[in-house]
Amino acid sequence: MKIAVIGAGIIGITTAYELACDGHEVTVLDRCAAAAEEASFANAGLVAPGYVTPWAAPGMPGKVLGHLLSHYAPVKIGLPLSARDLVWIWKWWRACKLETYLAHRAQLQRLAFYSRERLHHITSDLALEYERSDGYLVLLRSERDSNLAQPGLQALRDAGVSFKEINPAEAQKIEPALNPDTAFFGAIHLPDDEVGNCRQFALLLKNKAQRMGVEFRFNTTVTRVAGGALVDIAGENVPRQFDAVVVCAGLASARLLAPLGLPIALTAVHGYSVSASIREPLNAPRSAVMDERYKVAISRLGNRVRVAGSAEIGGSLNKMRASSLQTLYKVLQDWFPGAANLSGGVQEWKGARPMLPNGPPLIGASGVAGVWLNLGHGSSGWALSCGSARGLADLLGNKTPDLDLAGFGIERK
Ligand SMILES: Cc1cc2nc3c(=O)[nH]c(=O)nc-3n(C[C@H](O)[C@H](O)[C@H](O)COP(=O)(O)OP(=O)(O)OC[C@H]3O[C@@H](n4cnc5c(N)ncnc54)[C@H](O)[C@@H]3O)c2cc1C
Repeated sequence: MKIAVIGAGIIGITTAYELACDGHEVTVLDRCAAAAEEASFANAGLVAPGYVTPWAAPGMPGKVLGHLLSHYAPVKIGLPLSARDLVWIWKWWRACKLETYLAHRAQLQRLAFYSRERLHHITSDLALEYERSDGYLVLLRSERDSNLAQPGLQALRDAGVSFKEINPAEAQKIEPALNPDTAFFGAIHLPDDEVGNCRQFALLLKNKAQRMGVEFRFNTTVTRVAGGALVDIAGENVPRQFDAVVVCAGLASARLLAPLGLPIALTAVHGYSVSASIREPLNAPRSAVMDERYKVAISRLGNRVRVAGSAEIGGSLNKMRASSLQTLYKVLQDWFPGAANLSGGVQEWKGARPMLPNGPPLIGASGVAGVWLNLGHGSSGWALSCGSARGLADLLGNKTPDLDLAGFGIERK
């Protein structure tokens, strides 16, 4: 089949690759000048399937409200909120019910475990060499933080995730550069989880896909998608005809799909990252750690340290919030002072997680002839990408996916 993939973020690239593996003739269209320039550009890089959970969780609304006035809050509301944000918040609030949450969490985690398997398969099959390290350490500052983590640990046990609750001395053995002056209660160690550079992986996979015949058209904005797999491109007078079009346009997908009568409640949950070269390797993390209280990840990516976190509903992508960046620097300073060279060449980034109100992404047919979806991966698009892409390619090719994707269709929304 002749297939257009809209979007060359991590979701579009992995989708194009899997479709090419199945023998389709694939064209990727992206408005940016290169791949992975938007949400997939500088994320935290965590691939920790047991921690892939819906944002709509019992107690979350209270947590969001409780953080409103705190300077170093992990969750913020960017004002003014649009009418679309308010509709999204209403749907999200309704999905916070325990039963709904548990069903969505199980669904997401199944996809996340499958996706990690696919990631490893692609990485070894194509001998991709990108910045990555093994192991994930969740740091618990106080006994209260440890108590709050307990329901999550039960979920890890239920999911068969290998982890260990450890004391500070044991944590220090795993991450010897942890600041001895920052007292903490304990940690959770997940040896099978990992951190990887999502953008590098996307660029490498793009090159492989290109060699397999996938055509990439950058600086190409899709202005309209119509039933029957018609695609309008800015600057072209005649729509292009494909046999199928897969919308992987991240946050912008909602605007493309609304005219087709598909009202997708996607909103931006903004986050930040700071990346800096390592000043002294002995003072830097070996892999990824998460400060559970501030929800900030500190990762080793080759010769750089990346600190990422914050969740801001609403607001604008162009306006950096000083307090969110300060939280990242504070957490880095607390755990790994002296690790990064902060005096110059620091990359400060703000990205928009394409978030659906209830959690699981949309993967499959849209209900409109020839239009397919792979979107709404929220805070875990990198961790879910390879599995989502394989599943989409199977559905599109009329094969039974290895993973049951029945719950990821548009009809449940
Ligand atoms: C601070 C932060 C930390 C994160 N940490 C993690 C993490 O640790 N682990 C994890 O798994 N995930 C993480 N994420 C989430 C992850 O980055 C996203 O879920 C993922 O990048 C989404 O990928 P995507 O391909 O759907 O979107 P994008 O990467 O945004 O790609 C969409 C593409 O579509 C293109 N496009 C849009 N509209 C059009 C149009 N009309 N015409 C042509 N092209 C168009 C855009 O140019 C873009 O390239 C994090 C996100 C943030 C912000």
